[in-house]
Amino acid sequence: MDAIAAAQALSEIGYLLRQNEKERFRAKAFSAAAWSIALQRPDLESLQRTESLTQIEGVGEGIARVLSDFVQTGQSRYLNRLREQMQQPARDDESELDFDDYQGDVHSHTNWSDGRATMLEMAQGAQALGYSYLGITDHSPRITVVHGLNAERLVAQSREMAEVQKQVDGVTLLQGIEVDILEDGALDLPDAVLEILDVVIASPHVKLRQEPAAMTERMLRAASHPHVDVIGHPTGRRPGSREGASYDFEAVFKEAAKHGIALEIDADPARMDLSPEMARLAFQCGCNFVVDADAHAPAEFAYVAMALWMGRRAGIPKERILNFGSVHELTMAFE
Ligand SMILES: [Zn+2]
Ligand SMILES: [Zn+2]
Repeated sequence: MDAIAAAQALSEIGYLLRQNEKERFRAKAFSAAAWSIALQRPDLESLQRTESLTQIEGVGEGIARVLSDFVQTGQSRYLNRLREQMQQPARDDESELDFDDYQGDVHSHTNWSDGRATMLEMAQGAQALGYSYLGITDHSPRITVVHGLNAERLVAQSREMAEVQKQVDGVTLLQGIEVDILEDGALDLPDAVLEILDVVIASPHVKLRQEPAAMTERMLRAASHPHVDVIGHPTGRRPGSREGASYDFEAVFKEAAKHGIALEIDADPARMDLSPEMARLAFQCGCNFVVDADAHAPAEFAYVAMALWMGRRAGIPKERILNFGSVHELTMAFE
């Protein structure tokens, strides 16, 4: 029994429960247990044999029963029942996505903005996972509460990156930004700054309740911007607490596909954006994808391992997910 497979089953349970407001706390408990298993990779079979699954951090009696069922049968009856109740059945055209083939994460934060770790700690976290690259993408200036980065601070950050790069063998650090998509679809940094960065993720963070027509214009503009590489958490939703933006998804996804801009599946359990259903639509519109943790601390890199089921459910083959390619292929796609 693969701990990652179990983590993904618990992650999906957390995801489905989150959609029912009354189950908010249980949803969080399942997501937390999934995270702890994805991080620690415990030997589930031996814990199951000795009836000590509750020794795993975040696993109480209830979750232990679900885990036990999964370890013994490779299935979770509880998950199957939830899928039925939520009318989100497993699909027969799911793709194969194996975390062992995942090459690196392009969306992460450091204490240059709202991350809780230094760039070195994040880089070492990526190195420990065997990643061959890591995108450092802190916030842009508009997000003042988190001390977003302007051009000068980006230059200072690039100096630190050169120093950190010397200390992490095998991981190519990519300097990037998570730039805010402003209300009119313009970006929160000038083109001359975006142009020199390795990774530009354009994300909607505020004014998500704009009228659909205005929101569509806003997103279309970002999805055709020559320096944008990725649209980050494209709806801005927070399952169970905040509905995402509403716009002409098909038009925006097609525009992104046309301009070679990838769409993100943000694996943070609080976001899980795009959802599998939306990602499937984007796939049909011809888009490429990135699956990222949007990590604010090294432990959060594990969100990807536990949420890969989302890409599978959407039926996206790994050839269409840039994180499964080499750093060379990634930078070519981001050119
Ligand atoms: Zn964001
Ligand atoms: Zn982010």
